[in-house]
Amino acid sequence: LIGRLKEEPDLRNIPFIVLASDQEVEVECLQLGAVDFIPKPYPAPEIIKTRADKAIELSESRNIIQSTERDRLTNLFNMDYFVRYVHLFDNHFPGTPMDAVVVDVNRFHMINERYGKEYGDDILRRVGENVRELARECKGVGCRQGADTFLLYLPHHDDYSGALEALSEGLGQSDGTEDPDVNIRLRLGVYYDADKTIDIERRFDRAKMAADNIRGSYTEFIGEYDSSMHEDILFKERLLEEFRQSLSERQFTTFFQPKFDIRPEVPLLTSAEALVRWEHPELGTISPGTFIPLLEEHGLIFDLDLYVWDETAKYIRYCKDTFGFSVPVSVNVSRIDMLRPDLKNVFDGLLEKYKLTPADIMLEITESAYTGDSDQVIDMVNLFRNEGFGIEMDDFGTGYSSLGMLSKLPIDALKMDMSFVHTAFSEKRDMRMIELIIDIAEHLKVPVIAEGVETEEQYLTLKEMGCDIIQGYYFSKPVVKEEFSRFVVERSRVVA
Ligand code: C2E
Ligand code: CA
Ligand code: CA
Repeated sequence: LIGRLKEEPDLRNIPFIVLASDQEVEVECLQLGAVDFIPKPYPAPEIIKTRADKAIELSESRNIIQSTERDRLTNLFNMDYFVRYVHLFDNHFPGTPMDAVVVDVNRFHMINERYGKEYGDDILRRVGENVRELARECKGVGCRQGADTFLLYLPHHDDYSGALEALSEGLGQSDGTEDPDVNIRLRLGVYYDADKTIDIERRFDRAKMAADNIRGSYTEFIGEYDSSMHEDILFKERLLEEFRQSLSERQFTTFFQPKFDIRPEVPLLTSAEALVRWEHPELGTISPGTFIPLLEEHGLIFDLDLYVWDETAKYIRYCKDTFGFSVPVSVNVSRIDMLRPDLKNVFDGLLEKYKLTPADIMLEITESAYTGDSDQVIDMVNLFRNEGFGIEMDDFGTGYSSLGMLSKLPIDALKMDMSFVHTAFSEKRDMRMIELIIDIAEHLKVPVIAEGVETEEQYLTLKEMGCDIIQGYYFSKPVVKEEFSRFVVERSRVVA
């Protein structure tokens, strides 16, 4: 039998263990290719099972699976083979509850851009090694789906924090490139007790959704799939479908939120930020936090931004005509907008259309837009600054800029990310991060703007610490232009 099996190409690589009462055939069996021989009296079933596991492990490492079925970089199974394996697994163990798990490397593209492909590959190999080890320990299976995404199909666990630790072992202290800034973290998405009646690919899509859901979070590294996510996807699809029509029907409204200079005795309106809202006829007001990332992802953000910039410029013109006075208004400019070669012309066009000057409009550009492939962004910023536009670095503190890099960046103000204010004044009161950011701004000789200031205590403390400008609910929420005009009128009185 063994001889016949060894002749069949499809069966040849399957490890065989012979259990026989006749010990004399042992040598012959092993010579013919059996991996193990167990004579009578047979040991306990667990021992046989352990020897079988061992035999499988040995054969696998001898490459029972041809190299074409493996991922070249990590030597894990490739996706096709993985899917077949999961099928087999489900057939053999229909009663075992299984989890579908997606493993992603946080900000992998940045690691790659900043430290080079070789370093990135090295990280992937390490993650691959840890995936293999975990799959083996948990008696499941893993693969690399592509880029920095790995999949695991494992018997159900209640808690993945131990798994996350095991998968993260040995990352972030690679030889040579050692850099205390490199903090490589993994992100898991888990679809617990995955429904075996749906396609394997769809089960992992759900796990992926769970992982994407916590993308960018600084506190959560394990995301869990729940059915509301599916509804969320449908909701987003609807928004995307309706976007263009809604834009032409002018369902979007630009709100303005004042920024106050807190250096004088009495806080003084100094500028505003334009923030868009989607007033959907059926869904009500939708927050930009929901649709902006979606539009960015699908390459539609420029159309919306153009609309907001136009509305903003039109409003500044209106203020000048009506009150003989206006304050500069900053608009948000997405990273994707910054990569448009014609961006400067677009703004020049607006200035011309509404007879404004560059001092009337400021640009808010998020810190992370400067990282990565940033030369293009920096060149564009320089182009704007040379003409007199002010540039504010938004969400400062959440990106990856190093001090050396910052001093080379062309900016006119640092807008400290809201999370710093909120964390500093939480239960564990801790002002150190804010102090640090104020120091950095001093070093760069630019003012600091604190966002998200909600209470008098926050306002007074920040003032004391040397913060220059404040934006937040304490002074005003973002308001419609009619309401914002009251701030402008008030300010024009002070000036007069
Ligand atoms: P952002 O640029 O960081 O804007 C500040 C956000 O903080 C706004 O949320 C604002 O309403 C909110 N905020 C202001 N003061 C407070 C406060 O005291 N407490 C709290 N908790 N929140 C406060 P919003 O309007 O929901 O906008 C969210 C994000 O959407 C913005 O973050 C910005 O990144 C993006 N966004 C908004 N409008 C536009 C736009 O026209 N174009 C682009 N590209 N992005 C936009
Ligand atoms: Ca902003
Ligand atoms: Ca911000």
